[in-house]
Amino acid sequence: PEPGGVVLQVDRARKQFGGLVAVNDMQFEVRSGEIMGLIGPNGAGKSTMFNLVTGVLPVTSGEIRFASDGALRRIDRMPSRSIVRLGIARTFQHVRLMPGMTVLENVAIGAHLRGSHGDVAGLATGILRLNRAEEDALLFEAKTQLERVGLGHMLYEEAGSLALGQQRILEIARALCCDPTLLLLDEPAAGLRYKEKVALAELLRKLRAEGMSILLVEHDMDFVMNLTDRLVVMEFGTKIAEGLPEEVRQSPAVLEAYLGG
Ligand code: ADP
Ligand code: MG
Repeated sequence: PEPGGVVLQVDRARKQFGGLVAVNDMQFEVRSGEIMGLIGPNGAGKSTMFNLVTGVLPVTSGEIRFASDGALRRIDRMPSRSIVRLGIARTFQHVRLMPGMTVLENVAIGAHLRGSHGDVAGLATGILRLNRAEEDALLFEAKTQLERVGLGHMLYEEAGSLALGQQRILEIARALCCDPTLLLLDEPAAGLRYKEKVALAELLRKLRAEGMSILLVEHDMDFVMNLTDRLVVMEFGTKIAEGLPEEVRQSPAVLEAYLGG
């Protein structure tokens, strides 16, 4: 879609776990080329929202649509691997990598598993079944994305030896191998040092400038306020505020949720 067009449309999406309504008829849109923040207290339903968008969990009701081939198409009944192929890639709240393998191998395996949403461990041997040309193409793609995120000088380091900030960026490179138009990042700045957060924000701005749309769950308010174009705030599964970061920060419902709760 053209800049500003709707990329993702969440239309009264609901998720119940038994009696618990984790996502309560959520409604919001992500537009092309923006960084949108999804914030809210622990347990608000943010990760569940990501799992609905990526098809990891089925919605209880409601619809989710994604722009592809010039139209918004329903993805809420699609399997994860089809959703990835359409152009939605994600990272997880907790780093998922194989510490003993190199940075390049970690990203290449992620690329090979495009569609499996990062469940790397069980499929590590899958890479061995590729023929030489396929393996070369995979390594080339991985190297290209690692260079894009600024880790091109660390291809042959053990992934486990990287600082947490670099591991998070490695995971972004892995997601980029799926050739997404929408990137979902679940708390990418959690636990990072100040300088690492600055580097991460710089990378996300660069990806935005390249046309990427980004939906970001994050706890760190300073990070969110400085980076995002718009914000949606969730509490107890429900949207309690939406708008420009500065507006949202001053909304009574948000102050209540963060300070009064
Ligand atoms: P957040 O990411 O905003 O911290 P989550 O989406 O992880 O919140 O969780 C929202 C609510 O749903 C929490 O009360 C959590 O305990 C519950 N929940 C999440 N996943 C499941 C699950 N698979 N089964 C049952 N309850 C779940
Ligand atoms: Mg979460």
